[in-house]
This record gives sequence, C-alpha cells and structure tokens, in this order.
Amino acid sequence: MTFDYDLFVIGGGSGGVRAARLASSEAGAKVALAEEYRLGGTCVIRGCVPKKLMVFASSYKEQFEDARAYGWDVQEGAHDWDTFHPKLRAELDRLEKIYGNVLSNAGVEVFNARATLKDAHTVSLSTGETVTAKHILIATGGTPFKPEMPGIEHTITSNEIFLWDAMPKSVLIVGGGFIACEFACILNGLGLEVTQFYRGAQVLRGFDDEARGHVAEEMKTGGVNLHVGTDVLAIEKRDAGIWVKDSNGGERCYDQVIYATGRTPNSTGLGLEALGVELGRNGNIVVDDYSQTSVPSIYAVGDVTDRINLTPVAIREGAAFVETVFHGRPTKPDHELVASAVFTQPELGTVGLSEEAAAEQEPIEVYAASFRPMQSLFAGRDNRVLMKLIVSQESRKVLGCHIVAPQAGEMIQLAAVAIKMGATKEDFDRTVAVHPTMSEELVTMKTPTRTA
Ligand code: NDP
Repeated sequence: MTFDYDLFVIGGGSGGVRAARLASSEAGAKVALAEEYRLGGTCVIRGCVPKKLMVFASSYKEQFEDARAYGWDVQEGAHDWDTFHPKLRAELDRLEKIYGNVLSNAGVEVFNARATLKDAHTVSLSTGETVTAKHILIATGGTPFKPEMPGIEHTITSNEIFLWDAMPKSVLIVGGGFIACEFACILNGLGLEVTQFYRGAQVLRGFDDEARGHVAEEMKTGGVNLHVGTDVLAIEKRDAGIWVKDSNGGERCYDQVIYATGRTPNSTGLGLEALGVELGRNGNIVVDDYSQTSVPSIYAVGDVTDRINLTPVAIREGAAFVETVFHGRPTKPDHELVASAVFTQPELGTVGLSEEAAAEQEPIEVYAASFRPMQSLFAGRDNRVLMKLIVSQESRKVLGCHIVAPQAGEMIQLAAVAIKMGATKEDFDRTVAVHPTMSEELVTMKTPTRTA
C-alpha cells in the first residue's frame, strides 16, 4: 500500500515539531504536520516562553528596591502593560515564524488545520482534504482544566492572561501547582493585589516538603496573600467584579479569578475512541516505552500522553520516536532524573527524589542549609535561600537536590548533570567551592542535618 506521507504529525508544539523536523531532515521521510492554532504550541505561545518573559518583567520591582540600597538614585514607577504587552506579542510572532521556517527548511509540509483520524492511516483535515500516512504521531498537548461549578464561566485560565488588553488590579488564583504559584509571583511582582487559594495543606504537592514550605514562606513575605486549606464555594459576576465565597467563610470581589487547577490531555474529538486507541483515566493516550499506542501505526508524544509534562521531555520523546521508527534503532525516552524548575520568586529547582520519597526507599542523610544570601542581605531584605541534598547512606549517591533561590533554575541544570552521572556526596565534597556564591553551599555542607 502506498501512502501520501511516511509520517503525519498532529500538533505543532515542542514534541511534534521536533519529531517532524528530524524525520524529514535527518531520516529523509516525507512528512506533513497539522496545527489548528499557532506553531510553537503551549510552550511558545501560551506557556514557558511568554511566562518567562513575564517573570523577567515582574522581577524588576525588587531590583529597583535593591538598586537604591546599593547606592543608585532610581525611582520606582508602575509597570506599564501597554508598553510590555505589544513587545511580548511581537516576540511570540517572531518565534512562531521561526518554527514555521524550521519546518519548511526541513521539507515538512504544514497544514493550518484541525486534523482528526479517520482510520489507522488516514487523517481528515478541517480544510476538507483527506491524506494518508504510514505512521501518525499525535502531539496535541494539553489544555487547562477547570472544575465544573456554577459561575465558573466568569473565571479565566493562564491562557487568557497573555491576551489581557489591560491589567486588572486584583486577582484570585485558584490552585497550588506550577502555574498557580508562578503566576501568583509574576502578578504580585507586576504590582497587582494577588490572593491565592490552595485546597491542600501546602502548595506544590509532590515536591520536597521543606522546599515547598520555603517557597510558600517566601511568596508570603513577597506579598502574595496565600491561603492554604481554602477552596472556592461560590462564584458570581457582580458590578464590583467577580464575587467569590470561600470555604473559610470569607467573601469578596476580584477583578479577575484565574483557575490554575491542572491540565488535561488534548485527546477528545480526534477520533481515537472509534479507532480503538486506548485512553487512560485522565484521557491520556496510553503508550508503551517507545511511544506506540494500542494501534500500531499511531504513536503519541508529549503532554497528551501525560508522562512528565515538560517541554524538554516532549522533545526527547519526539526524537526517540524518530530514532525508533525511522532509523530502526529502538530508543526509549529517558524519564529518570528529569530536573525541573518552578519559576516562583524565588525559584525552586529540583532534581531527583524528595526527602520524603527517598526516605521511603532507603536510609538517607539529609544535608540542608537555609541562609540569607549576601546580595539581598546587604539590601536589607530578609529573604532566605535553601540548598538541600538527599544522600543514600549505602551507595553515598546524591538521590535528590532541591534549591530555593534566585536563579535556582540555572543552578539545578548543572547539579542535574552531576547527579545524572551518579555523583556521590563525596564527589560534591571534593569539588572546590566557587566563592562567593549561593550554590557553593552544595559542596561545603559537611555534617548531615538529619538522617532518616
Ligand atoms: P499542577 O498539576 O501542577 O497543579 C494543579 C493544582 O490545582 C494543584 O495544586 C491541585 O491541587 C489543584 N487542583 C486540581 N483540581 C482542583 C479542584 N477541582 N479544585 C481546586 N484545586 C484543584 O497543574 P498546573 O496547571 O499548575 O500545571 C500543569 C503542568 O504543566 C504541570 O504539572 C507541569 O508539568 C507543567 N508546567 C511546568 C512548568 C515549569 O516547568 N516551570 C510551568 C507550568 C506548567 P492538589 O495538589 O490538591 O491536587
């Protein structure tokens, strides 16, 4: 049987674009890709990239204050969304074009259309065309989830923040994960009055407990009005804004209510069920170690598979798919010891096991230092940073590293290389410190804080 294409990719985000490019330019496959919205996907258009630019924008508030303490005669003004927002949009347009160029230079045919599956080798496009492919890769990502309740239609998600014409004055953020905590810090830094409700006892569930507590304290010190153990009971649109009643008896109006209560895989309406593609409980496409679904010609990578929902992981999954299918070298994407950063202020960088998870696995030593770093101490701020290593008592390997500090995302990337290589505590110890830095603590902590 002959097909129109060797590979048809549905979704032009991080995973899909990487797979399409490599299959075409390095494996010589005939490749097409369909994207219904904008090339670049969540990461470029309404996720990591615009978020990080907003992190940068929001961080100047503190820097103005510090600059005065360091002798600069600067006056802090208000942030002007009207100046920043067009530049942000222009930058995303630029990046979207680069993604288009990357695909066209690689010889990938791009359809600006929604694609659905007709059978195991046939794709229908919203433009009316029907095409066939030997292999189909689904890389449709995820979409924000909001719980169903009366009034929820008056709330927004992180997607809409990037489209704001004007900044609100007050916001309520619901949720305690990556997105909720990051936007609480960003919007607080941009001068908004920020309230955050999290239903559980501590934000950032799944991360190291001590690191979570440290981030939460710093967020509160920075001005975020964080309420844990608090959920939304009722929402109404009123003249004064969006009225919210909470589970602790409080009620008030906010200009905007932002739900950051998780994301669900984008798997509905693709025709997957009719084809017999197995879906998981969360609507995620179930795949094997090689990203193959229960229908052999159909593969899936990235957030739609709900493995580790991070851009660099989707990219690795896309590359491993091409190695496996187009180069004949079966390759499993490596999901072990994936470092990540939460871009709160200060940031949380993490790799490996939390103290709690490691202690369940084996006897451990914990090395932790919480201190006031030189730069902000001099400026008269009370902020503290945390450097923490979890070490196996038996193998001496560093099982986890958790950093809460400005630029922790940059630091953890480097610590992750050593930990991925299997570095022991003694390897860290014999590495000479870079002085004066915050991260030198990672190689100078001599005595365990505790064992478990
Ligand atoms: P998360 O899964 O991280 O957090 C969801 C939050 O919403 C949790 O605090 C959860 O509470 C809460 N929640 C869920 N359902 C409800 C509900 N019905 N009512 C109230 N609260 C609820 O999702 P995010 O949306 O923050 O992020 C999605 C994913 O995107 C992340 O997991 C991450 O993989 C990725 N991401 C990565 C970033 C980075 O690398 N810096 C940045 C942003 C996103 P509970 O803990 O009790 O379940």
